[in-house]
Formats: sequence, C-alpha cells, structure tokens
Amino acid sequence: MSSSALPLVDLDALAEVLSPGALVTEADVVASYSFDKALFCPVGTALALIRAQSVDDVVETMRFATEHRIPVVTQGTRTGLSGAANAVDGCLLLNVAKMNEIVSIDPVEQTCQVQPGVINLELKNALVEYGLSYPPDPGSVAISTIGGNVATNAGGMCCVKYGVTKDYVRGMTVVLADGTVTKLGRSTAKGVAGLDLASLFVGSEGTLGVIVEITLALRATMPPAITAVGIFADTESAGHTVAEYMASGAAPSMLELLDGATIRAINGYGDFGLPDAAGALLLVQSNAPGQSAVAELEAFQEIAERNGGLEVHFSDDPADSELLVAARRAVSPALERHAHSIGGGELIDDVCVPRSRLGEFFAKLAVIDARYDVEILTAGHAGDGNMHPTVIFDARDEAMVAQAQSAFAEIMQLGLDLGGTITGEHGVGYLKREWLRRELDEGASLMHERIRAALDPLGILNPGKVFA
Ligand SMILES: Cc1cc2nc3c(=O)[nH]c(=O)nc-3n(C[C@H](O)[C@H](O)[C@H](O)COP(=O)(O)OP(=O)(O)OC[C@H]3O[C@@H](n4cnc5c(N)ncnc54)[C@H](O)[C@@H]3O)c2cc1C
Repeated sequence: MSSSALPLVDLDALAEVLSPGALVTEADVVASYSFDKALFCPVGTALALIRAQSVDDVVETMRFATEHRIPVVTQGTRTGLSGAANAVDGCLLLNVAKMNEIVSIDPVEQTCQVQPGVINLELKNALVEYGLSYPPDPGSVAISTIGGNVATNAGGMCCVKYGVTKDYVRGMTVVLADGTVTKLGRSTAKGVAGLDLASLFVGSEGTLGVIVEITLALRATMPPAITAVGIFADTESAGHTVAEYMASGAAPSMLELLDGATIRAINGYGDFGLPDAAGALLLVQSNAPGQSAVAELEAFQEIAERNGGLEVHFSDDPADSELLVAARRAVSPALERHAHSIGGGELIDDVCVPRSRLGEFFAKLAVIDARYDVEILTAGHAGDGNMHPTVIFDARDEAMVAQAQSAFAEIMQLGLDLGGTITGEHGVGYLKREWLRRELDEGASLMHERIRAALDPLGILNPGKVFA
C-alpha cells in the first residue's frame, strides 16, 4: 500500500491523548520499525508508530484503534523470527519496548513484576543481588523483551531442565482490543480460581490483547554447571545419543546440538576452535549438586560412545564453558554471515519432535537436504527435540528461492509426520500460518477462531498473523 492510499484518520486527536512524542509519523522511522528478523514475510505500510511509555498510552491507542477500526501490531524489540511483529497495511505499530521498568522483586514469594519492555538479560542481572534467577534464556536473551518472550512463549538453552516461559508466568495485566484493562492470573504460588486466562495469552503473538505488566515466578540462583562436548561423525548418532541419554533419567541443564556445517560456519565467524571435521557436536551441561554432575556427564560419555560418539571432552573450567556457550550463541550471526556470503537467503525452521525420534529426524532431514541445491545447516535444543534446520540459499535467484521454500516446507511436514510440531518456540506469525491448520485438527482450529473473535470482535489485533 502506498502512503497516499493509507486510510485518512485524524492522528492529531490520538497524539493529544498520548505521552508527548509517543506518536511517530515520519515515514522513514515508521518503515524502520515495520519488520522483525524473519525474512520472506510480507511487510505492510503502517499508518504510524506509537512508542508507548505507559499503560495509558496503550489504552488510548486501543480505544482509538477500536473507534476507527484500525489494525494494531504490538511490538517488543522485533527480534521475532516469524514475521509476527511485521506491519500490516494501514496499522498502528504499538511498540512497548520503552515500558521497561522492573516494578518489584519479592524475595519471599520469589516473584517479580515487570513491564513488558524489560530486556530478559537485564531482568536476570537485576535478580542476582537477591539470589534469584529467571531461567528462560532464548538466544536473543540480550535483545528481546519479556513481553515478547511471553507473547511467543520463548524457549532457550536451559529449558531442557528449567522449562519455557509459560512455566514462569503467574499473572499479567492486559489491555484488550477496546482499551479495557484487566488482570489475569495471580501472584500467589497456587491458585485455581476460574479458567487459566493468563496462560491463554502466553504464545498469543499479539492477537488477543496487549500485555502491559507480567508477574513472573523466579527460582533460586542456578548452580554453576560443568560441561562435556561429544563429537560425532554424523547427526543421526548424536540424535540417538540424546534419546538414550534422556531416557536414562539424566537431567542436564543444557543439551544442544550443532551439525558439521554449522560448526564450520561458527569457526568461520569467530575464534571458537570447534572441531572442524566433526559431523555433529553435542554440548552438555550438568549443574546437579556435588559429584552428581560428574556422574551425569560420565553417563553421557558412556551413552555417546555406545552410539558411535568419537570423542567426549570434559571441563569444569568456567572459562571453557563460557567459550562453548558463546560458540553456541554465535549460531545466529554465523549463519547470517554465511547466508550473506552466498546471496542472503535464510529460512529458519523450528520443528520440535519427540526426542525418541531425533535419530530418524536427522536421517530423513539428510534425504531432504540431498534433494535440493540449497544448504541446510542444523543447530538446536536437542534435549527438547527442538531443531532449527536453517535453509541457506541465494535469495537473488528465483529458482533457489522456490527450492528453499519447498525444503523449508518439507522440514515442517517431517516434524508433523514424526509426531511433532511446526514450531517449538519461534511462533507462527506470517511464516508458518499456512501450516498451523495442518497441525491443528478441526475442533482446535475452530476454538482458536472463536477465542480470537470473542476477544477481538473487530479483527484489529495483529490481523493476518497466526491464521491466514
Ligand atoms: C539471534 C536470535 C536468537 C533467538 N533465539 C531464540 C531462542 O533461543 N528461543 C526462542 O524462543 N526465540 C528465539 N529468538 C526469537 C525471538 O527473540 C523471540 O521470539 C522473542 O521472544 C521475541 O521478543 P521481542 O521482544 O523481540 O518480540 P517481537 O519480535 O517484537 O514480537 C514477537 C511477537 O510478540 C508480540 N508481542 C510483543 N510484545 C507484546 C506485548 N507486550 N503484548 C502482546 N503481544 C506482544 C508481537 O505482536 C509478536 O507477535 C531468537 C531471535 C534472534 C534474533
């Protein structure tokens, strides 16, 4: 939509009721806020950007949007990987990243209340002096907001032991489509009064309302971990190792996988010294008390060797562990750099399969890989069965784009065929909206539609996302 085709709305009336400077209409600024980190998702032309500074700003925006039937796309820091925060034509971009206050930390209840724009890592850092921690740790920990994490039910590396965002959300305040402010959930450790409406908003990707405050459960500081690295000739044997290791009752605090091509991309990106010739690598940490951690990693070694592991290295030196975790965190920029070098195309899959089927997943992924001229590099949260095969290709070549999209789709189908899901943590957004109906049965699809219509009767909340 060109800017001349945008609906005529008197935005001055909105500016008057918002905090000074909150409404931004400069086309270049609005355009620069119109997309997240996903490629190949449509980006519409927004009417304006609201940098909300308070709940009142959110309320006024929603009242205005309801009155004028204007779509609203809520945003955190736009690190999303599914296009869910992209502008739709004629929308208001409601960015809540500036609402970034840690409202309170309660060491007795082990909870905190935060505004949605608080950055995950900043919360973690603030909790240290209380001897508390907030475990969910997406790769974007230093740049994504708690509001965005809640709206996508973000995962991360320590989820294999500590769970995902939803496991920490006790309650929240939301602004509904018509501007009504309401509290959902609770702050107490237990509570079963009424439906669990706070959970409904976890993972709702901006389609049910705007989250303006969140009460999170916390944990005591997580103990330090010791690390093992298992090196394999191929991903399939690494996958079988994960299944057998988890079946043994182990509770690693991290269990991540890198395939050989990803290892080489990381080594090309920085001085991490990963084994360049490996076909796959498993990075395992245990923070079990005392000698249990050593026992847990020795069990890993035994199982890895039984499944064809070539070498297993241990380290209890925190500097080694930090370097290895930094290497794992370098996957995103390393793949981005690699993609850039061959034409910039990058489609990141996010399938999650039962751990018992990881070996089969990798065997079938290799078949898909062999059928296409694109590259498929895989890393992921193996302990959860959550893999990110990334299709890398020359985005300037139409034939390659078509191949990449087919490979990307086949990987989602593989995830479903193995009893898994099309998205373990990145969300549906635009990128996978055609696929959600394949995953849901008719009843579940209908419930989604009815819930959405009940909370957003005018269809103004992130329209066109999640469902086509
Ligand atoms: C390098 C990198 C690594 C990543 N690693 C991981 C990972 O390990 N695990 C993982 O889960 N994700 C990961 N992600 C994806 C992304 O960071 C997460 O989805 C994150 O939760 C998005 O937060 P955000 O603040 O950027 O939200 P945005 O991208 O701005 O928004 C995401 C969605 O949430 C909605 N939303 C945002 N704020 C609110 C609110 N206050 N109220 C209602 N709806 C809202 C938006 O409408 C949109 O639908 C990664 C991304 C990058 C770039």
